[in-house]
Amino acid sequence: MKIVGLTGGIGSGKSTVARMFAELGIPVYFADDEAKRLMVTSESLIAGIKKRFGEKAYDQTGLNTRYLAEVVFNDKESLKALNQMVHPAVEKHFKDWVGKQDTAYVIQENPLLFEKNKQDQCDRIVVVAAPIEMRIDRVKARDGATRSEVEARIQNQMDQNYKVKHADYVIENDGDLASCREAVNAIHKNILSEIP
Ligand code: ADP
Repeated sequence: MKIVGLTGGIGSGKSTVARMFAELGIPVYFADDEAKRLMVTSESLIAGIKKRFGEKAYDQTGLNTRYLAEVVFNDKESLKALNQMVHPAVEKHFKDWVGKQDTAYVIQENPLLFEKNKQDQCDRIVVVAAPIEMRIDRVKARDGATRSEVEARIQNQMDQNYKVKHADYVIENDGDLASCREAVNAIHKNILSEIP
């Protein structure tokens, strides 16, 4: 089973691309969503988070994201501690998930694939890229965010050029959805042709 990492900066269109692979029958693991889910479903993870951040880390609705975000935003050690709990839980869950799939390859969609140094765990890497202005406009429209909010989020991520340079496949998602889909189809065919 080959593991294909799919990443790209915010607004590049990686979730859109991920859904296109899913439509081709390829199982897609959305690492961010799974991390958030595990933080409210995994008993050992919940216990670890409560131990480190206090009971306040959870409220009646689930994870107290406002409180946690504030703590980790202001303290690098806290962020590191949280990551050191969440990452192994996601990694284990991903491995179990991969074991249950029976396709030639699977995709892990991970916005921070390079930032979290996961590139070596992938057999191939697909990077979705788009011009910065286009990314800003897309996220403004998608999230109702302001320009400066989007710019701050982009600032927190690694440079798009770095990701493009280290990719096996690059999708320049600067056209319409039909051309994006064509690029996905071509990559899908290519990956399948490489698998014996
Ligand atoms: P990411 O997951 O990289 O942050 P998304 O896939 O959510 O990006 O795309 C951001 C927004 O741009 C979404 O609303 C999506 O529908 C839109 N979008 C993505 N690619 C295209 C495209 N080629 N043409 C038009 N809209 C697009």
